[in-house]
Amino acid sequence: MPEGHTTHALVARLDRAFAGSPVAVSSPQGKFADGAALLDGLTMVGSSAWGKHLFVQFERERWLNVHLGLIGKFSVMRHHADPSPDPDPGEGQVRLRMLNDAWVGDLRAPTVCGVITPEKVDEIQARLGPDPLRPDADPDLAFRRIALSTRPIAELLMDQAVLAGVGNVYRCEVLFRHRVDPFRPGREIRPGTWKAIWGDLVRLMPLGVAYGQILTMDDQVDDALAEVADGSAAAHTASFTGARLGERFERRFYLYKRTGEPCHVCGSTVRTQLIAGRNLFWCGRCQRRR
Ligand SMILES: [Zn+2]
Repeated sequence: MPEGHTTHALVARLDRAFAGSPVAVSSPQGKFADGAALLDGLTMVGSSAWGKHLFVQFERERWLNVHLGLIGKFSVMRHHADPSPDPDPGEGQVRLRMLNDAWVGDLRAPTVCGVITPEKVDEIQARLGPDPLRPDADPDLAFRRIALSTRPIAELLMDQAVLAGVGNVYRCEVLFRHRVDPFRPGREIRPGTWKAIWGDLVRLMPLGVAYGQILTMDDQVDDALAEVADGSAAAHTASFTGARLGERFERRFYLYKRTGEPCHVCGSTVRTQLIAGRNLFWCGRCQRRR
């Protein structure tokens, strides 16, 4: 499921494949035909991400804005000598195709795909909270919003105006990692707790970018950090196309989708409840802090 790490990984792939050269842009599915015509043949300047929003800058101050939503996928891969790639079974679902003589990028099932002005880019970014994957992010800005709110912390972490990029998996897992009660109102959360959560996201989310999968369990996080430090993670990162999730690590979590199973730490039953439109998973015994 795309969270902020997915968008940031996409930036690296798009820049490697397309930045600095003209791109043929089309909409095989047809739904984005007008937008594609505005970009077709223009040089792509570069791309950036803020939370789950992707911004791709083309010449003439035209920007492509994409949000993958819950099921969107944007794959970027090399194609063979023939510049028109073979239609694949999912051809009819390709909202946007970017193509040059070496690479093809196919966007499927996004919730947002549009051509926007630089002013609109600023407007969207101004609405978003700090993104732990951006070096310019200010965690205090998020905490000021949290500290004023009566809404539960589990809901606030999913609010992109408070914090950008965190989705349901990171939300559940990071609250558990710090033993935070998900139902505590934001205004009861201690500044030290927020500092620890933010610091953890800053450490965990780049691993999501590097491996194309969300890693939160301590043993996996330690292994991943070691591979990043010794340089061996780079080969994994370079091999990803975005078409599917990375598989360097076994897919397991402390709580995510483990309803009814025993907590790995205390053995108590993992519970679930709908919060901010998505299933929150938590351990009522471990998670008492605020
Ligand atoms: Zn527990």
